This record gives sequence, C-alpha cells and structure tokens, in this order.
Amino acid sequence: MIKEPHLLDDKPYLSTLKKRILALKQEKQAIIVAHNYERPEVQQIADILGDSLELSRAVMKVDAKVVVFCGVHFMAETASILNPQKKILLPVKEAGCPMADMIDLKGLLKLKKANPGIPVVCYVNSSAQVKAESDVCCTSSNALEIVASLPHKKVIFVPDRNLGSYIQSKLPEKNILLWEGFCPTHMRISEQEIITCKKQYPKASFMAHPECPQRLLKYADYIGSTSGMLKYAKNTKAKEIIVGTELGMIYRLKRENPGKKFYSPSEHFICADMKLTTLGWLLHSLENMVYEVSVSEKIRKKAIKSLNKMLMCLPVEKKKTKEAKKVKR
Ligand code: SF4
Repeated sequence: MIKEPHLLDDKPYLSTLKKRILALKQEKQAIIVAHNYERPEVQQIADILGDSLELSRAVMKVDAKVVVFCGVHFMAETASILNPQKKILLPVKEAGCPMADMIDLKGLLKLKKANPGIPVVCYVNSSAQVKAESDVCCTSSNALEIVASLPHKKVIFVPDRNLGSYIQSKLPEKNILLWEGFCPTHMRISEQEIITCKKQYPKASFMAHPECPQRLLKYADYIGSTSGMLKYAKNTKAKEIIVGTELGMIYRLKRENPGKKFYSPSEHFICADMKLTTLGWLLHSLENMVYEVSVSEKIRKKAIKSLNKMLMCLPVEKKKTKEAKKVKR
C-alpha cells in the first residue's frame, strides 16, 4: 500500500535532459503532449496533458507541424488519423496497449459476419484497422452516451469487456455483445486491496475507472474516465480520495488539488507500457524525429468516420477539448 505517488527528484541530470528537450522542441517547432498515466517528469515537460482523445483533439488545434505523443501506439495513431497533415512521433515504438492488441481485424470481421446488421462500437483503445471496421468509436468519457444514442437494441462492443459490462449495467434495455478484451493494469487489482485501503482510510472517497472489473466498481463512490476523475476530485467535499486507476494519475491529481490527499490501493497499479517513455527517449525522439506513426490513407478514411461519428453525435464532446490541460511551467 502506498500513500504518495512515486516522484522522481529533480536531479541535475534530469534538468540537463529537460533543457536539451526544450531547446530541441523549439528548434523543431514541435509540441509535446502526454497522457495522464505518463511518468511525472514526462508530465512536467509536456505542453498539454489529457486523456487519449482530449490529446488528439487538442493536437488538431495547435499550429505545430511535429507532435511528440507521450503515450501508447493507438493514441498516436488516433492523433494521426485526426491530424494527417502533422508528423506524429511516438518516443518508444514498442509502447503499445495490451488491451488494444486483444482484438484484430480478422476476429472483428468474423464477429460482424456472425451478427449481420448489428452496429459495432469500438473503444478508442483499438487499432486503426478495428476503428475502420466499426460504426462508431467511443472513449470512457462518452461510451455510455454513445451506446444509449444508438436505436438498436443489440450492440457489439469491442474490445474492453469491463467497460462494456459497466455500460450494460447502466443500460439494461440493451443487449451488448462483448469482446473478451481487458486492461491488464486495471484487472491486476484485487478486491481485498480495495477493502484494505478503504479500511485504512475510512474517510476517503473511492473513484474508479470503468476499465476496472465489476468486483472493484461495486465499491466506488464515483466511476468515470480520467477527465471525469479530475472534475470529481476538484468538486467533491472529500479531502481524501482513493484512486482506482493507473498511478500516474495521482501525480496530476496532487498537482491540481494541493489541499487533498490521494491514495492508490496498490503499488502494482502501473501500466508498464505507459512508463516506457522516459526523458531520454523523449530527447531521442526529438533528436532523430522518430518514431513516426501514420496510417494508410485507405484505412484512415474509413477509421476517421467512426471517430467523426462520435465527435458529431456528442455536442458535449466539443467542450471536453478544453479539459486537455495546457501546462504552465
Ligand atoms: S492502462 Fe491499460 S488500457 Fe491503458 S494503455 Fe495501459 S494496458 Fe492499455
């Protein structure tokens, strides 16, 4: 059990790296965006922080031609689909999402063939190919509204069975066909860890990400995306909050809510892929303009339809871009 996020000291070598990154960023006219789960020192140096979709949409609004996307592959790919004219760089080419890799094109096509006429909703944590074969995309912020907005009773939801089950519990009138994908990071946490943490901090409120399995969600006072958690943490009267998502989130929560305390139920609440990006790799990315992520025009044209459908059918999403936090240094 840990009380505080693991913070790196601003040691001299980190300062040197940061200076070189900032100088190169200016020289290359680049912008750095980072997901809320990234390492503290990466969050510190980013121009914009947010969840995957907030970042992709924020990228649409910036003038920079080069974007260094500190996150995992599907996020950079989504940014590239929405911003084909920009060079999108992923600092570590191996940084992927195990959940996104749990579904492939072949599997999805087979499922569609077995269920003709049933719309496919795909979570943004998916490849461009899967998005291209889906009817509408969604994020954890809007999955409920997207599924509710469909006129069909039966809906295919891929790839996250936990997010899909959560939606099913909220929309009993729907019949949701689930793909058996999951986030290993959110699945790793045990019910006992939540019970123990709640006992240790009896006054703390518990907020959980819907990628958590139902066995954890049943204890939550609030269930929502990382952007939803940021709002909840700011507005709740609770002064102590147990955070049911990846540890990197605690760093941002603490920065934005200095008067509150945040606890993680487990020191194992870490996404190894998100932690692959270090300042060293970020520097390497800017020095060598690697690793560029792009999508073939044929797939991009199909994939953008499912993303646009999500963006168009939810006017509230337009406001959410503002939530992508422009970092002040
Ligand atoms: S936290 Fe889970 S869903 Fe997010 S990138 Fe890591 S493995 Fe994928």
